[in-house]
Amino acid sequence: MTEIKDKIALITGSSRGIGRATALELAREKAKVVVNYVKNKEKAEEVVSLIKNEGGEAIAVYADVSNPQDVENMKATIGQLMGEVNILVNNAGIHQHLKSWELSSDDWNRVIGVNLTGVFNCSKTFSKDMISRKWGRIVNISSIIADIGTDHEVHYAASKGGVLSATKSLALELAPYNITVNAVSPGYIKTDMTKFSSEEEKLYYLGKIPLKRLGHPSEIADSVVFLCSDKASYITGQVLHVNGGLAFP
Ligand code: NAD
Repeated sequence: MTEIKDKIALITGSSRGIGRATALELAREKAKVVVNYVKNKEKAEEVVSLIKNEGGEAIAVYADVSNPQDVENMKATIGQLMGEVNILVNNAGIHQHLKSWELSSDDWNRVIGVNLTGVFNCSKTFSKDMISRKWGRIVNISSIIADIGTDHEVHYAASKGGVLSATKSLALELAPYNITVNAVSPGYIKTDMTKFSSEEEKLYYLGKIPLKRLGHPSEIADSVVFLCSDKASYITGQVLHVNGGLAFP
């Protein structure tokens, strides 16, 4: 996987969970890693230290991805401290366990703002240098919920469906510049986002997964690393489903 070596990889929302695992794996492939955080600077610095302890290079940079000015500022900071971003993993995401009739407009806008507008803000900002260099990798983290729906977070489902559509269009726009754009669509992965409220709920979901276990963040990270590597150089506009065999209805 030589193409990742010495590339600068930005992983949004990488102080914990899937983003953290992806930052660590990309660093193991010798990328220079930018750990983006919005709230938890300490946790982000912890990821940076882990990478440095393994002999890698990393920095932690603040930005709320839903805010275009924050994203521009993040680009300027990365430019000063490390250089131009070549690999972008749009991982930052939030969710909210509510029925549609319980959602306020603010709830809707916040989830769409982070999960979907955040992908737009970062892709727009960071693809410019990729276009000039005629090389780039963008991987967007969607969700199985985009395909199967959910009975409790319509805004999350809509945002993740939007991420898949955006992935297809960005792939077409950026292909002439040797930039691939793909999505990874996780099933149920063991992170802070999927803390089940009860044992009953957990057993319900486990019962639906043919591999009979939740996924590990590193199993999503491995798929992202693959899509960033030269082994995936002819793959663009695709969705890689990583979900233990969970079937679509
Ligand atoms: P997580 O809650 O542990 O991590 C999400 C990260 O995004 C956090 O570090 C958070 O601080 C960051 N973030 C939130 N808002 C942000 C903002 N405005 N700007 C920058 N960063 C922000 O959850 P996770 O499970 O690791 O989820 C990572 C991604 O994977 C998300 O996009 C999520 O929707 C997706 N996903 C997760 C699962 C799962 O089962 N865990 C399944 C499908 C998809």
